[in-house]
Amino acid sequence: MTKYIFVTGGVTSSLGKGIISASLAKLLQARGYRVTIQKFDPYINIDPGTLNPYEHGECYVTEDGAETDLDLGHYERFLNTPTSQANNVTTGRIYQHVIEKERQGAFLGKTVQVVPHITDEIKRRMCLLANDGQYDIIITELGGTVGDIESLPFVEAVRQLRWELGTNNSLVIHLTLVPFLAAAGELKTKPTQHSVKTLLEYGVQPDVLVCRTEHHLSSEIRKKLALFCNVNINAVVESIDAPSIYDVPLLMLKEQLDKTVLTKLKLSTKNDPDLASWKAFLGKLKNPTEEITIGLVGKYVELPDAYKSINEAFIHAGAVNECKVRVKSIAAESINPDNVAEKLKKLSGVLVAPGFGERGLDGKLVAIRYIRENHIPFFGICLGMQCAVIEFGRNVMGLKNANSYEMDQQTKHPVIALMEAQKKVTDMGGTMRLGAYDCEVKKGTKAAAIYGKAKISERHRHRYEFNNKYLDQYEKAGMIASGINPENNLVEIVELKDHPFFVAGQFHPELKSTVANPHPLFVSFVAASLAYHKEKKQK
Ligand code: GLN
Repeated sequence: MTKYIFVTGGVTSSLGKGIISASLAKLLQARGYRVTIQKFDPYINIDPGTLNPYEHGECYVTEDGAETDLDLGHYERFLNTPTSQANNVTTGRIYQHVIEKERQGAFLGKTVQVVPHITDEIKRRMCLLANDGQYDIIITELGGTVGDIESLPFVEAVRQLRWELGTNNSLVIHLTLVPFLAAAGELKTKPTQHSVKTLLEYGVQPDVLVCRTEHHLSSEIRKKLALFCNVNINAVVESIDAPSIYDVPLLMLKEQLDKTVLTKLKLSTKNDPDLASWKAFLGKLKNPTEEITIGLVGKYVELPDAYKSINEAFIHAGAVNECKVRVKSIAAESINPDNVAEKLKKLSGVLVAPGFGERGLDGKLVAIRYIRENHIPFFGICLGMQCAVIEFGRNVMGLKNANSYEMDQQTKHPVIALMEAQKKVTDMGGTMRLGAYDCEVKKGTKAAAIYGKAKISERHRHRYEFNNKYLDQYEKAGMIASGINPENNLVEIVELKDHPFFVAGQFHPELKSTVANPHPLFVSFVAASLAYHKEKKQK
């Protein structure tokens, strides 16, 4: 029988529920259990696809094309197993389903209510992934903070499920904050006590407290928390600030979170977790032999979460290369022909980021021209690839005012055009080209050398594409389409012949980079940047 772990948050948001869930899942997976994680978000949007990154950080895309919360990225990076549409559910999706059923008359004249109809649908979705017997343990992270009006139906669904599943088959972990008051020189337990009391008012007794803290929890503090929150002393788990999110599984192991959880779920703790490859990764991550700085030119640079997966992919690729990669964010709008040399001076490579809309386009084109002409390693992702195509069209091929149709619908040279399938689209939500598509890599190209295989699959999220009317012209001028979708001939990768590393993809490779499988494009880009760095040092 599948066992369920629910993770709630107390006191404040941003405590890192996603990382704690992913870390616990990693430990359970390392003990041989089949684990998955799902996230239930209490907002009304059907999915985060229509949200501005400033609202909710990056939108993560799964293999099956779901636009999801960025925590799913952590789940995949830690577990190295794909998630799907079923792993992220919002209040909007729950209500949409219930209201559609109501319109179909499925409730047979009954009044449709939050309890039981909305809570029933939440429970159904919470158990969905258990249906095919694929998992021993399902971890469900509840977005938001206990006490929020909008998370109430989710907490009620958890209460009912716990009763239905029985105490040995489910448990609740409450992630909370134990703040340190510098003036008093003390850690404070009261916010945690209150947030547990709120949970109790809703009928949910947490089994485990994971306490985010800047200082170690003394045994007195642990005792106090245990006594006032009604949990075993070994179920008070310290989660101290860590140098990297990838340290958290080992910190949780030290606190025996996995053992506590397995014992409560009456599951065997016989197999010790096999974390050899995880530790090898951490060893490399922490002992770099070199350090380089890579520029990330984008539009949402003030907010690190907007490019979460890109930053993480650099961490994975840095570890492979035993090189610390500092990612320097550069606001595309701030780049112009007069300052570009200065702005890019200290960089060993530049990534032009994905994005939407015109803001910052000119700066990106100026940066790409400089990088191309000065043979600095370049990596373009999605809009970054489209910009590379526009820049090359304008400055090398003399296609005056070449542009993407997204930016200029009057352009004489729409080198990036709206995809055929997008022309009829009117709704914004869930209508882009989303999810995994096959791509054939051309023999003898840089892309072929990087991937080491001819057939690849990558994840997408875009409406515009390379305009194949210009393909011959581009290839003659030296920009090669080295990856093509075999079904519809969409150009998925472009590269320059006469450049040490100038590669760009229409897809999002960052979404597939995990600790166990760092993405080859990132690994090669970091290697090329490192080589450039060493060469520059010698000069
Ligand atoms: N705005 C571009 C498009 O829709 C690129 C999207 C992206 O970078 N994810 O095609």
